[in-house]
Amino acid sequence: MKNFGFSSIKPRVIDYDKNNRTVLDYIMEHEPSFALCIGCGGCAATCSAARFTDMSLRKINILLKRGENDEVRRLINKCMLCGKCTLVCPRGVNTRNVIFLTQQAFKKLDNYAV
Ligand code: SF4
Ligand code: SF4
Repeated sequence: MKNFGFSSIKPRVIDYDKNNRTVLDYIMEHEPSFALCIGCGGCAATCSAARFTDMSLRKINILLKRGENDEVRRLINKCMLCGKCTLVCPRGVNTRNVIFLTQQAFKKLDNYAV
């Protein structure tokens, strides 16, 4: 058969039942303003760390809500906790605290259940 240079794409399914939303639950319990995030990306656009790394707070917010924590774990420590993202968020999300709580949740998860 002739090869036209195309290949099938692996399906990407978000399985909310299988994903781990423990970190999200911990954040929502301590910082309810996270529910107001609309994923606009204003935080990521102003992020100091994003200038020098692949840090993206918008990506982190979306992954946290999906319960896909592996990539969040990789990115979260690139934040310098400068707080610029909190100043620009149009929804008033306390993003700096969300990041702090996420780091805290991972530390607790590594030691005992959140
Ligand atoms: S700026 Fe606020 S609303 Fe927009 S993605 Fe960031 S946290 Fe969410
Ligand atoms: S607190 Fe972290 S995520 Fe927010 S702007 Fe500063 S470095 Fe970026």
